[in-house]
Formats: sequence, C-alpha cells, structure tokens
Amino acid sequence: MNILTPPTLATPAASATARPTREETEAAVRTLLLWTGDDPDREGLVDTPARVVRAYEEFFGGYGIDPVELLARSFEETDGYDEMVVLRDIRLETHCEHHMVPIIGRAHIAYIPDGRVVGISKLARVLEAYAKRLQIQEKLTAQVANTIEQVLKPKGVAVVIEAQHQCMTTRGIHKPGVSMVTSRMLGAFRDNSDTRREFLAMIGAPRQGSEA
Ligand SMILES: [Zn+2]
Repeated sequence: MNILTPPTLATPAASATARPTREETEAAVRTLLLWTGDDPDREGLVDTPARVVRAYEEFFGGYGIDPVELLARSFEETDGYDEMVVLRDIRLETHCEHHMVPIIGRAHIAYIPDGRVVGISKLARVLEAYAKRLQIQEKLTAQVANTIEQVLKPKGVAVVIEAQHQCMTTRGIHKPGVSMVTSRMLGAFRDNSDTRREFLAMIGAPRQGSEA
C-alpha cells in the first residue's frame, strides 16, 4: 500500500554510522592485506579487495531480505493435513560474528500446520535470509523458529542445526570434526515428548564429526 514505507527487517542492522562506500570498503580490505605482511600491489592481490567486497555482498546479502515477507504467502487448502512437515538436511552456510569465518553444516526444520502451509522452499529461504548475516548458531536457530511461529502460527515448530565452526576447526584450539548442535522446540514439539521424539527420529540423531 504505502510505497514510501521501507521494508522492515526482523533484525535491522542497528548501525548509527553511515554505510561506507564500496571504495572505502575495498580500501579496508587492502589494509588487511598489508596487515598480513603481503604486498597488495602484486599481480595476484591487486584485484583482491574488489573480489572480497563482491564475496561479502553474497555472504551478507540477508540483511536486505525480510524473512517475514518470505512466509507471507501461505496456502489454506490442505484438506485438513495436520501432521508434521519436515525439511531435513538443508545445507547451511553462515559466518560467525566473532571471527567472520564460515560456519558450515545442516539444518532441519519442522512444523505442524494449523490450517496453513507454505511452499517448503520458503522454509529454506527463511534459513538463508538469517544465515547470510553475521551470526551465532544459537541466535540463528531461534530466529528461524520464531519467525515460522510468528507468521504461520502453527501448532508447533522445531529447528535443529548441526554445524562446524571454522573459528574452532582452523584456528584457536584446532578441533576439526567437532560439531555444535542447537535446537529450538516450540508448541507441540516442546510440550509433547512423543512429537519431539518422532521429529528427532525423522532427522536421525545428530551426527558427530561429519565432514561438512
Ligand atoms: Zn568464531
């Protein structure tokens, strides 16, 4: 209706400072290259600042996507379907907000409709909208579950994420093979242990040490 109203983001980038220009951002990458001790003017690195900024546009494109909007179109002709809908083994790529390095893993998303369903690709896109931001795994898990609950108002929502954090596998304590598992259970998944068990059986027990 009101075209002057900018899209509202569930998690606005609460920055008081203006967004830097592309040139300023490329200059910042050049500073990082200098910091490594390398020569940013040598042939192999001269285009790296521009490439890194383009990669960041892709990695962090989720700030421009409203996850609520993604779920806005739902369907009510379900013939009374009220069993669990499970999307499992969704590839997850996000970035740790503490080190800005990848978190790679998989997510499983389930809900029990209460008269409304969405196209299943929309569930994966909600995950992606939040994953393409700086994240911690706990917050990402909660954001996906809360958004589905808020918009679809289903009888229950469950989100499980298993992921490897490269800030833990390639630096710091160097523990390759360690996965972190987070979950958020709402409604029937929280209140009913049979429902929760059924979901966990459908996704298989979270695997430890699976190579992403
Ligand atoms: Zn980290």
